[in-house]
Amino acid sequence: MAVINCPQCNKKISDKAKSCQYCELDLVNVDEDKLASIKKVNIINKSQRIMTFSFIAMLIFCGGFLYFYWQNVQPGTVEYYASVSAIIVGFFMYITTRIQLILLKRRNK
Ligand SMILES: [Zn+2]
Repeated sequence: MAVINCPQCNKKISDKAKSCQYCELDLVNVDEDKLASIKKVNIINKSQRIMTFSFIAMLIFCGGFLYFYWQNVQPGTVEYYASVSAIIVGFFMYITTRIQLILLKRRNK
């Protein structure tokens, strides 16, 4: 008995199983077309997750940025470190999600 990854939820299952124990995908009647459509849905879901993450990153970045200017934050205060780290964290989170999205698209061409 070998362990394979479920084509739909990607969890580890037995290759002898008739259906996935996690997402209940029917593994007996799965064909090329079904696999292709599952793969497509997985990619869409994944890129949507990354997009949500990148949106949150933008919010953190803009939030820190706007707070920094509107509140006229003085260096050395807690607000200063909070807004500067929000800008930095938001920026790097955003870059990371952009890279992930590019890699995802390239991998699934
Ligand atoms: Zn599954």
